[in-house]
Amino acid sequence: MVSPQASHQAVSALPFLPFSRPSITQADIDAVVDVLRSGWITTGPKCAVLEDAFRTRVGAPHAAAVTSATAAMHLLFRAYGIGPGDEIITPSMTWVSTVNLAVLSGATPVFADIDRDTLMVTAAEVDRLCTPRTRLIIPVHMAGASLDLRGLREVAVRRGIPLIEDAAHAAGTEFEGVPVGRDGTSIFSFHPIKNMTTGEGGMLCTDDAQLAEHFRRLRFHGLGVNAFDRETLGRSPQAEVLEPGYKYNLPDMNAVLGLSQLTRLDAMNERRAVLARRYLELLSTVDEVTPLGLPGWNMRHSWHLFIVQVDIDRAGMSRDEFMQRLKDLGIGTGIHFRAIHEQQYYRELMPQTIGTLPNTEWNSRRICSLPLFPDMEPGDVDRVVAAIKSVLSNKS
Ligand SMILES: *Cc1c(COP(=O)(O)O)cnc(C)c1O
Repeated sequence: MVSPQASHQAVSALPFLPFSRPSITQADIDAVVDVLRSGWITTGPKCAVLEDAFRTRVGAPHAAAVTSATAAMHLLFRAYGIGPGDEIITPSMTWVSTVNLAVLSGATPVFADIDRDTLMVTAAEVDRLCTPRTRLIIPVHMAGASLDLRGLREVAVRRGIPLIEDAAHAAGTEFEGVPVGRDGTSIFSFHPIKNMTTGEGGMLCTDDAQLAEHFRRLRFHGLGVNAFDRETLGRSPQAEVLEPGYKYNLPDMNAVLGLSQLTRLDAMNERRAVLARRYLELLSTVDEVTPLGLPGWNMRHSWHLFIVQVDIDRAGMSRDEFMQRLKDLGIGTGIHFRAIHEQQYYRELMPQTIGTLPNTEWNSRRICSLPLFPDMEPGDVDRVVAAIKSVLSNKS
């Protein structure tokens, strides 16, 4: 058997394996270069084509592109008139953007604890937290798995509260055979680590025509768009401000990258699934590291992330130490996510929440995202698992 020192050197002689890397082809590059040469690089016809292609892909009646999923969420907060006194139900186990937007608008985030195995909120927990002040319910499709949309929609309809799905991880995810984004209102992210990218970008999908119209107005200064503008994919120079808005339009330079990526979304997700299956197989014998549980409902996973829970007692080290040791072996990892209510600003703002979200807090100390991206080779998965075994066999 090789000594720990020798295996350490053998592993780290390989190039660093990041936990994520965008998959960019020559076709992607050519598409962007064509836009750069075209004389029109900001929002224009390509953005409209991306919206139409994404809308068609998920089957949604309306889609509108913006510069990030965070921008999309901001516009939805604005469209719903969220302000002081309003409560927003969302998990603490999510990216910080939704909770920041709630606080910035003067509203109060109300954190729903998550299922310990899937990291997703449950319909029962959301129902329990609804009050007369609840204005939005914003659950997160986690890591590419689908939320229990049947249960969550039932609660939202019964309570009369809009449901916004954070589908940043869910491009290509399906629930009961239906693509996430087809029904209701959801936001997608095209940040470089997501399943498809526009560099930076985001998309609203909705079946609410009025909401879509309001969103489109808010994303560009609040200028009115009439029927003629919609048909010509432009905006007349005479357009007037109908209400103050923002500047979140997605440039064609970015949109065309998304269009090119969208043609490969299924292939890229299939590749992610192959890699994920290999992780599941190889990790089945590693007791200290447990992949997230898969929900019981009928869904199609888009494998945005491969998250494991590190058994810190058996491993004899903290999750952060586990990550550092993998890094020393040339393996990058991530955390999706650190509980928001435990981060400095929120600890100070809402100290009473500490200790009230046991499954969130338990996972916040244990989860770690292993490398997963379409350009990885199955051999890279073997390398990650070998490094994990090496780290675990060399506990201090
Ligand atoms: C990435 C992400 C976002 C934000 O997406 P941006 O496009 O970077 O604004 C929101 N929610 C979740 C769950 C995310 O992972």
